[in-house]
Amino acid sequence: MPKRDKYWLKSYISRICEQIEEYRGKPPNYIEVQGLIQRFVKNNPDADPESIDWVSHYDPKLEYSEILQRFKEAYPQYKWEKEEVREKQYDEERYFNELLDYLRKQAEELPRELRLRLVRELSAELGLPAVEAKKLEEAIEAEVEKPPERPRKKVVVDLMLIAKYPPLPEAKNIAQAFSFDELDEKVYERACERVLEAAERGIVSAKLDDPLTEFLSYPTATGIVAWIYDRWLASRYALAEARRIEKLLMVDEPEVLEFVAKKCLKTVEYVPGSEDPEIKSSAKYGDYRIQLKEYIRTTTEARLNTDPRWKLINRVVRRGFIYLSPAELARIVRAYVQMILKNTVLRTAANRRVIPPKIRDAAEKIRPRLGEVVSRLRKEITTIPADMPPCMKLIQERILRSEDVSHFENFAIATYLLNTGRGIEDVLKLFSHRSDYDERIARYQVEHIAGLRGGRTKYRPPSCSKMKTLGLCVENGKHCPRWIKNPLDYRPPKKVGNPSYIT
Ligand code: SF4
Repeated sequence: MPKRDKYWLKSYISRICEQIEEYRGKPPNYIEVQGLIQRFVKNNPDADPESIDWVSHYDPKLEYSEILQRFKEAYPQYKWEKEEVREKQYDEERYFNELLDYLRKQAEELPRELRLRLVRELSAELGLPAVEAKKLEEAIEAEVEKPPERPRKKVVVDLMLIAKYPPLPEAKNIAQAFSFDELDEKVYERACERVLEAAERGIVSAKLDDPLTEFLSYPTATGIVAWIYDRWLASRYALAEARRIEKLLMVDEPEVLEFVAKKCLKTVEYVPGSEDPEIKSSAKYGDYRIQLKEYIRTTTEARLNTDPRWKLINRVVRRGFIYLSPAELARIVRAYVQMILKNTVLRTAANRRVIPPKIRDAAEKIRPRLGEVVSRLRKEITTIPADMPPCMKLIQERILRSEDVSHFENFAIATYLLNTGRGIEDVLKLFSHRSDYDERIARYQVEHIAGLRGGRTKYRPPSCSKMKTLGLCVENGKHCPRWIKNPLDYRPPKKVGNPSYIT
């Protein structure tokens, strides 16, 4: 037998996958095929893998254990069990801890708040025990020297502030002093750019070199979107502008955050732990607080309450107040701005006659380009395979639309795709639609999930019961077989009489 090194094995596995694809008409699960062949090679170092007919015995409709059983029966002369290939079951906590270690190292230059936010989000989503989550938070806090206390600053409403946060009521008064027909051409250019950025990337950039243009381009862009009168674009634009504001708030002074947040949350207060001995013990949970009643109302209105991290059970509540970190407060502001802006666009669209002619012309100029973006997105959405379980289809659609998708949903879709024959590049291509996409981090996460890094664990998608607990199961599994335990078990119902699919 010729020498078989790891490079040969890798190309051999790829070749077998191609042959299976040709034979079955669809690509096999690469990780499964790799697992089978590696298992064979490890257990039978002197045997030639080419003596096995991988192609006709591999059946993608079967579970991995059933496929393995087939090979055992077809080739009883070989060992299949002695040295198990390491293949662990889904283990959220382990994934979380390993990922967190990596992120902690990679993100050392990130502001402390961002790191803490990540820890909290993942803890809540993955149901990490509160004690463990606290330990992690404390570890991050201990790494960073606390900045010296400084006197409170007074917020001045100037051109820069309204350029950053144009939905402020103060900005509206200033904008009324300008006539749209007299605005400089560069305001229209920037406004068109805002709309295109929103449609293409799901986030609007902040160009603050020329604050007046930046500020005036906001109501102009809002008018353009209203004139185009498309619900999808209205939602997308509202989301993209709200994300821009959230990003700016995250790096602005705490007093500015408090000032802006007060426009949507009446009871918000800046209470840094060091100033209030009452809350010293819970200071690490956030330097802001709002009344419980308002918290519940706002998170419900902004539809944040479907995300586990906003549920009361995961919050610090003290004497009728909820404590929030700056990042969390900025997130609430974002949800609020998004909701208000979308309503404004739709209201203006319903009364389009009031939109000035220059705005209409600008809108018509970019309409063809917007049409291209929309049809590209629609095309991508319609290429989602029909045999995917409804929960995974929904996550994929939401990523393609650059909507908010939690870490847990990202994890679920990545594990699902990797376990059903898609490669790392396919998953990265999907993730590139996220507005916060960072190729370096995403690649690490996906390779980690595929078992190529960290603890070398091969992850499986979360079980259906876990998906249900997190509200990610579609209509409580109504469209899936009753016996289903994991999204990987899903098979699309046959059109005519299939007794095993009871809906
Ligand atoms: S039952 Fe399972 S596969 Fe079906 S939608 Fe719910 S979580 Fe997804």
